[in-house]
Amino acid sequence: MSAGVPGLYPCRVCGDNATGFHYGVLCCEGCKGFFFRTIRGNKQYRQCKNPSKCLILQSNRNRCRFCRMQRCLDVGMSYEAVKMGRWTKADHRGLKPTLVTKALHHDDLILTVYSAFAKACSNHNNQLNNEPSLEIGGSFFIRNGILFATAFAKQLKDFTSLGRDVQHKQIKTAIIEMSVLFEEVRLKTAGSEDCTIYSRKTENSVITVIRNKGKKLTQKLMSLNLTQAELSLLLAVILFCSDRHCSDTADCKKLEWIEESLLSALKYQLVFNHTKHLGFLPQIIEFICCLRGLTIQFLDDILRFNGTYRI
Ligand SMILES: [Zn+2]
Ligand SMILES: [Zn+2]
Repeated sequence: MSAGVPGLYPCRVCGDNATGFHYGVLCCEGCKGFFFRTIRGNKQYRQCKNPSKCLILQSNRNRCRFCRMQRCLDVGMSYEAVKMGRWTKADHRGLKPTLVTKALHHDDLILTVYSAFAKACSNHNNQLNNEPSLEIGGSFFIRNGILFATAFAKQLKDFTSLGRDVQHKQIKTAIIEMSVLFEEVRLKTAGSEDCTIYSRKTENSVITVIRNKGKKLTQKLMSLNLTQAELSLLLAVILFCSDRHCSDTADCKKLEWIEESLLSALKYQLVFNHTKHLGFLPQIIEFICCLRGLTIQFLDDILRFNGTYRI
């Protein structure tokens, strides 16, 4: 652990407690030393083989030095930057409490959710194998959502330890929301062209109407440029949502507790990754509520089905 005062600001590189501005960036003693040793020793780390950069957290920051250095540079560390040095006690007194007042370290949770997400995405890519699929009435969109949601859920012990009925209910009721969000995440992370062939029959289907509304919502969310770790936490919040009428009291309490921990970890990542944009969390909460509205609308439309739509 660092010598920083707990609970003020997280290190921009690894999330440990920052001890001040070093090399132009708010960071901890560990990352300050690492950056200094790398530059002074002119060290060249072996290129990392992970195509999507390693997620650097306090607990694993020594594992991949290449990605840690990359992260130092990405957040703007520079040897030439004016070195402001460590905070004094007087500096701390002037700082207002922030979202990270409790200095929560959610490394394990973030790593678990993020690796579940990465595995589910790669399973999904293997299954698709880039073959074009015929989209009829939104079937492909929903199929993708189900494949992803189940693969993601299976990787999460907290989810698989819930009662089977509760697991089914959670996935079933979250499927529209997860499909909508996953579709956008998939396009963004794969950076690939959508190879779905749309049939004309899809235009008025209930699912297509919902999907288009969802697309507008997610595009707004995507403009926040959330990291993959943040998006994976958001998908987990949707999956573990505790007010989907769970009837088992013990499981209900567990869902509530996990949902709270996930939101807390997400909040922590947002402060850590987007220091200048503390308004992200309310926008994300609003997004979650709007997505929920889509599930309600979808169920209403299905029940009121009067021939206007094709399913
Ligand atoms: Zn650090
Ligand atoms: Zn790496």
